[in-house]
Amino acid sequence: MGLEEHIPKGLLLTTVEKAVNWARKSSVWPLGFGLACCAIEMMCTAASRFDISRFGMEIFRASPRQADLMIVAGRVSNKMAPVVRLLYEQMAEPKWVIAMGACASTGGVFNNYAIVQGVDKIVPVDIYVPGCPPRPEQLLEGIIKLHQKIEKGSLIPDSRHTAK
Ligand code: SF4
Repeated sequence: MGLEEHIPKGLLLTTVEKAVNWARKSSVWPLGFGLACCAIEMMCTAASRFDISRFGMEIFRASPRQADLMIVAGRVSNKMAPVVRLLYEQMAEPKWVIAMGACASTGGVFNNYAIVQGVDKIVPVDIYVPGCPPRPEQLLEGIIKLHQKIEKGSLIPDSRHTAK
């Protein structure tokens, strides 16, 4: 019996990797925390006007153990850096990080001894969202880019997440 004879019966062909990646990108749960002014824009993204719930992401998790996306929204002080790293380590695998805004991405205008010059110095970053602050639409664009990255991901564990 040819393949075309099965299709009217609802036969669907895919790969395990594609099915898992589709499920992962459709159920990314962000961790609920913010560090500075960019966090206000992140909160707006979850409100009705911008509607992050179209991606099933509207419930920011209160525990890192229930989250798989860290949105670093705001500058990271050296004092907060160990806390951010600990939260990242407590998140479920697989997990992703978005650096939201100039401060989280590079330190921004705070080129001084108190601010980490890019959160990628303490956690691996998947997507950088430019701006000071980025508007909610920019964060949504970053989330769409993250979805595209997850869809292309491999099921083989990524060693960078376990690197100290
Ligand atoms: S990028 Fe701009 S808006 Fe965002 S935390 Fe830094 S100073 Fe604030």
